Amino acid sequence: MVLKKKIIRFATKFQERDLEKSFQLDYCIPVYHSVSDVDLAHLKHVVNYKNVQDFEKDLDEMSRFFQFVTWEEFKDFHAGTFKAEKKIALLTFDDGLSEFYFNAVPVLLRKGIYAINFINPKFVDNKELMFRAKASLILEKIIATNSRNPEIFKLLDISDFAEKTLKQKILKIPFEKQKILDQIADLAEVDLEEYVKTQKPYMNLEQLKSLNRQGFGISNHGWDHPLYKDLTLKEQIENTQKGAEFLKENQFLTDGFAFPFTDFGVGNSFFDQIFQHEYDCTFGTAGIKLDSVTKNFQRIPMENGKSASQTLKEEVAYFNLKKMINRNQIVRK
Ligand SMILES: [Zn+2]
Repeated sequence: MVLKKKIIRFATKFQERDLEKSFQLDYCIPVYHSVSDVDLAHLKHVVNYKNVQDFEKDLDEMSRFFQFVTWEEFKDFHAGTFKAEKKIALLTFDDGLSEFYFNAVPVLLRKGIYAINFINPKFVDNKELMFRAKASLILEKIIATNSRNPEIFKLLDISDFAEKTLKQKILKIPFEKQKILDQIADLAEVDLEEYVKTQKPYMNLEQLKSLNRQGFGISNHGWDHPLYKDLTLKEQIENTQKGAEFLKENQFLTDGFAFPFTDFGVGNSFFDQIFQHEYDCTFGTAGIKLDSVTKNFQRIPMENGKSASQTLKEEVAYFNLKKMINRNQIVRK
């Protein structure tokens, strides 16, 4: 908390107009998931998404400091064949959520800004909810209905039904134990199948193809959104390549990959293997940070309740603090 306060104080010291100069890298890669003016039960407890107006404000702020580029331009920039007028920004979205199609894209088309969406092929066409979305939806329903099923206490290994405890426990259920979420859903009478069918949280194949035709990028976020550090190397490669097969079949982008959740704890052997395939670069979510794997770029999470310029200012300040203690680069083993 003390460190966080220091960063914010430090961040507010410099003026917005200095941001372009003080931003330490020559590229900025913001990452979003959703943009929505309405409450989304399957997202509200796991993603602090922005409304359309705030998203648009973010884009305007970032446009002052950066030049938004396309996927091809981003790759050319790093190959040294694309000359930009300002520092560049690549707008990215994760998870293939339908609000990208309905809410973000109309704004992007109007402003002429490119974006790439890293998707999990398993959820395309809304056959199932991703486990984090299940967690959010179940939590929302239990809170709303005040359900007190003792079987849920037992499954979660809790003795009180305080909202805070419940929230912590349900949101902590990992990928490997996601079956527990299905059991809780049954006990709390949450019809996950009905929800996914009627709410359609993810884009379908036709929508993805339409975005592709309009010039937006669709790329790989792994098959079904596991936490990579908890997988064996073999499982990491399999999950990545199973996602890539779908992208290839549909002529989407197969030369990019964004880690689901985080690349924290992913070792060099994964990158050594993956870069033998057609990948040009990969993406994490550690903010402004360098990486010992130079083709793995860290992105800046933007869904934190703050404006883009405030987020960037804090990131710049945090990078400077980390630099002082030599912690501004991720070193992989
Ligand atoms: Zn994701």
